[in-house]
Amino acid sequence: MYLVFARKYRPHTFDDVIGQQHVARTLKNAVRQGRVAHAYLFCGSRGVGKTSMARILAAALNCEDGPTETPCGRCDHCRRIAVGDDLDVMEIDGASNRGIDEVRELRQNAKISPAHSRFKIYYIDEVHMLTSQAFNALLKTLEEPPPHVKFIFSTTDPQQLPDTVKSRCQRFDFRRISDAEIIKHLQQICSKEELATEKGALEAIARAARGGMRDALGALDQVRAFSDSEVKLDQVLTVLGAARTRTLTDMVAALAGSKTGNALKMAHNVLLSGIDLLDFIDQLSEYLRDVLVAKYCRTDDELLAGAIADADTLRRQSELFTPEQLLYMLQILREARLRARRDTTGKLAFELAIIKLSRLDDLVHIQQTLDADTAGEPVENNNYSTEDRGRKTEAKPTQAAQKGETKEGGNGKDRIKNMVRRLQDRSKGNAGPQTPPATASHPGPAADIPDDVPEGISPEKFRQIQDAAGGAEIAGEIEKNTPLLEAFIRADEQFDLRPVKLQKSQETKQDNTDQGSESGS
Ligand SMILES: [Zn+2]
Repeated sequence: MYLVFARKYRPHTFDDVIGQQHVARTLKNAVRQGRVAHAYLFCGSRGVGKTSMARILAAALNCEDGPTETPCGRCDHCRRIAVGDDLDVMEIDGASNRGIDEVRELRQNAKISPAHSRFKIYYIDEVHMLTSQAFNALLKTLEEPPPHVKFIFSTTDPQQLPDTVKSRCQRFDFRRISDAEIIKHLQQICSKEELATEKGALEAIARAARGGMRDALGALDQVRAFSDSEVKLDQVLTVLGAARTRTLTDMVAALAGSKTGNALKMAHNVLLSGIDLLDFIDQLSEYLRDVLVAKYCRTDDELLAGAIADADTLRRQSELFTPEQLLYMLQILREARLRARRDTTGKLAFELAIIKLSRLDDLVHIQQTLDADTAGEPVENNNYSTEDRGRKTEAKPTQAAQKGETKEGGNGKDRIKNMVRRLQDRSKGNAGPQTPPATASHPGPAADIPDDVPEGISPEKFRQIQDAAGGAEIAGEIEKNTPLLEAFIRADEQFDLRPVKLQKSQETKQDNTDQGSESGS
């Protein structure tokens, strides 16, 4: 029978486990000293050995020779546990058994003595997927488990677990496996399989696996389909590249086409497929870096030697963006990465970034609008209709700019007013102006920018910004007729968003149009 490498070379003892020695050592000691906890929580990204470790622990507890830190691997218990087919070691997928009924059944079942082993062991994978009622039901059993029961939970997302559950488990954090460890393991397998390896091939697999042994072994399996005798670098790159490149190319195309919904769905699917959020942000950044370099260099330049996309795609996509847009996109991704690493809501930070990235058209037009306004373009002259949303880099010279007119009110306040009006005009087809003209209800100088909610900004959004900025300060700025742009930039600082200098006004614009112009995509 053909076995994939991940199964064929699955570790069967604590000493075989790669990259998680800190966990293996502690569990070995616990087994030896007869101090095995009744519930463990294994945390770590996919493919780093959580399930293998759970099976080894189960075998250590239930081996005929055991409990022993070195399960024999030959007895009935060991062999059945190793393939996930033992009556007393229940492997449960938390994602598909997440409800209260399943947990109730588990509780009933747990009371019954094991069929043929010392312990009844429940291994619940992706335990964070359980519903909160299910967790509550589980909690009772966790508090007072029958002596013959052990729980092993695993999760890729421990943040989502209730503290009450976490506090009742002994927790282990599984590391990403280093490239060197992965390469060494792949080398051992290749020599057992009598596969020659071309220089750089295993290194490329290890790099792409980003710490997950299962992914690395999966890639090796696929490469073996090309050849039974040698692992070649170009085959590795073909295997690794195809799926990833396609996703990134599609994502960048969606962003360029302002298809926000599509881009969000793609991001969602990528994360569902198990790709780590930070990894994906890195990949997208690397991809955009290549696109940016392709604007300045020929696609056969050595700077693009390791490019993710092929030359044609790079050239084609580099024409979709200006260098400024690409720099801005990279900046947005960098911010998203920082936030995702620090926050518990990493996915939200990424989704916000995707929304921003898919609205570059709006950003550039604001810059152009401001440029035009600086030159004194009359308010009524709306050069930026919705039909005019091409991604052209050259600022279109406006009539006013060409004539070099200067308008009496060329100050910041008027510029903002003009800008907001344009934004309203542009979104008319979708939402229409958000507020009636301010002059109608607020006479006098304050009419230009009402001191309550400024024109063109949804009251809700404005309130959010006020709240975030401690209310009074930003409101005060606006009252003092500080240009609204400045005020919003400060609000962004309060949100800990640091827009690129180059595109300050673009960043600010996000706040002005969040309601309305989006429904078109
Ligand atoms: Zn055994």
